[in-house]
Amino acid sequence: MPAAAVPIPPLERSVRERTGVGSERAAQLTRLGIHTIGDLLLHRPRRYEDRRRFSTIAELRLGEPATVRGQIVALGIKHYRGGQKSIFEFILDDGTARLHCRWWNLPFLQNYFAQGDDVLVYGAPNSLKPRTIDHAETEVVVNGEENSIHLNRIVPVYPLTEGLPQRWLRSLIWRTLAESEGKIPEPHWQLVAKEFSTRARAIHLLHFPEEQSDIEKARQRLALDEFIELQIAIQRRRKNLQSNAQARPCAGDNHLIKTFLGSLGFKLTDAQTKVLREIRHDLRGPVPMRRLLQGDVGSGKTVVAAASALMALESGCNVALMAPTEILAQQHALTFQRWFEPFGIRVELRTGSQKESRVESRESSDNLFATLDSRPSTLVIGTHALIEAGFTLENLGLVVIDEQHKFGVAQREQLVRKGRYPHLLVMTATPIPRTLGLTLYGDLDISVIDQLPTGRVPVKTFLRTPEKLPKVWAFIRDKLEQGQQAYVVYPRVDDSGVGDLKTVNREFEKLQRELAPHRVALVHGRVKADERERVMKDFRAGAVKVLLATSVIEVGVDVPNATMMLVENAERFGLAQLHQLRGRVGRGAQESYCILVADVKTPEARERLQVLVETTDGFEIAEADLRQRGVGELLGRNQSGQPTFRFGDFITDRPLIERARALAAEFLDTGMLVEKLRVAT
Ligand code: ADP
Ligand code: MG
Repeated sequence: MPAAAVPIPPLERSVRERTGVGSERAAQLTRLGIHTIGDLLLHRPRRYEDRRRFSTIAELRLGEPATVRGQIVALGIKHYRGGQKSIFEFILDDGTARLHCRWWNLPFLQNYFAQGDDVLVYGAPNSLKPRTIDHAETEVVVNGEENSIHLNRIVPVYPLTEGLPQRWLRSLIWRTLAESEGKIPEPHWQLVAKEFSTRARAIHLLHFPEEQSDIEKARQRLALDEFIELQIAIQRRRKNLQSNAQARPCAGDNHLIKTFLGSLGFKLTDAQTKVLREIRHDLRGPVPMRRLLQGDVGSGKTVVAAASALMALESGCNVALMAPTEILAQQHALTFQRWFEPFGIRVELRTGSQKESRVESRESSDNLFATLDSRPSTLVIGTHALIEAGFTLENLGLVVIDEQHKFGVAQREQLVRKGRYPHLLVMTATPIPRTLGLTLYGDLDISVIDQLPTGRVPVKTFLRTPEKLPKVWAFIRDKLEQGQQAYVVYPRVDDSGVGDLKTVNREFEKLQRELAPHRVALVHGRVKADERERVMKDFRAGAVKVLLATSVIEVGVDVPNATMMLVENAERFGLAQLHQLRGRVGRGAQESYCILVADVKTPEARERLQVLVETTDGFEIAEADLRQRGVGELLGRNQSGQPTFRFGDFITDRPLIERARALAAEFLDTGMLVEKLRVAT
């Protein structure tokens, strides 16, 4: 049998091989993402309990979580509402006082407890008269030698799944550690030589710390391994590029740019000029540009992209520009056509619904995408459709990706691979805190537009409860009368049956009545492409006064006469997303307003949205969003290729991330063989 030829590394063996793991337990572990011994060893405790000393029941304080230990002196179940509902309750006595523990509608719990049981209870009392904890976490103490695992130490409490007992899992991990700890490979001896423990020791202490301080030490070591692994991947990609790739000269000769900048009707800001200088330097260099351009909403990234594109086009190369939505791709196509057509540059649009059509109406030949090198330089603008297999562009000199946070790293790479090492410019309005930038975009150089065009009046932001809506409508009607335009955004297109979220479809007619005679039009992801295009055109032209939309208009849309942004159910959106939506207004010289209508019931929810009222600084908002909702929200939901960490934390681990970066560079420079992390996910 060939199966015996390559032995499976110990940590990659299935958990099923462990004694006591039958098919039922294995299925439960699978639900927790645990398949192998390695997965099991990295199952991170949710919290820890110091069981060397318990609180007494008499000491319990209202609302403060604690663990107590006592005997069950009474228990029972009460049914009500004709047996549909139930309360299961037991009373615990530890000699100092009694504690009532109650569970609603979990009648099967009565099977797990009996009078006289020795039970550990963890929870926060919701009443002290009598002392009561509802829905506590419990563990029945079973006498036996295993108590050295579950008692008299700092004990891990794991995330569980239905039917999986805490004690059972803890024992399994204890036994597995005893057997496998010696087989955990050490990927970074350099760390051990410094002040860190071995990876094996860190994993041991993660589960069974001897002191409270061991927990954080162990986490840091494991987080560092994660960061180093990611940094090595990033830096390796960069090194490969430097040693393999030969850049096309794409800096141009200025013959178009001057005229272009002169035709804009405004002067570039200093920040835009500085960034363009950085880009020109890259486009002239020996290594293909890999640059991230960060600039808050409205800072004028499009013009920078256009000038960069012109450099490449002047050099005789073609350029591809990818945007995340059809609306934005279409808008860019219109803008660039207006800008570039006078130079005889072809601007083509390629989206999901518009495969090979052209914005230009000029004569086209049979196959637009076959060979373009003999023709005038071309700028192709599109959506994800650009990365599809059917699309190729000869002589691709520069790839620009707008609103790059809406794409994944993989998609970025796919587009770049359409050419032979083209230059790459990715743009985002989401200001990434530095650490995060190092982590996510460590392979990119970063340019920042840290200045808005002059003459912008900051958008006034208000937070209102739904009762105030009539007033809000009156305000908007008033502004519409003055010739201004508005966006109205709801979270959903249609009812999904949950809650009372406003949906554009349900509100459309109501809004038309509310705002008559001003024309209201509807746009969302499910509106047909040609209809959407017509609506956007009418909105841009001012024929449509109010655009009722979902967050499809979140990115990029630029209609300077629109001065009002009303977002209902604002509590449903992330801060960075709301900041983007707000960025749709305040693009002209007129005073603009962003009105967030939210049903904020808690002070925290209010405080969260209040950040937007208080600042228009995208950087501050991004930091707040990162703190409140994590990386995923900040970067957009579908970030394929976005790293996820089990132990690492973007916010608190900044020093570790810096450290990992340096260590990874050291490893790669010394050509050291870095053993792959066997236990890694
Ligand atoms: P974003 O960075 O959000 O993509 P845009 O590129 O859409 O911003 O620019 C926002 C608006 O500002 C556009 O209408 C654009 O024409 C205008 N704009 C860009 N640069 C300047 C400038 N230097 N001075 C005045 N207006 C500018
Ligand atoms: Mg933009």
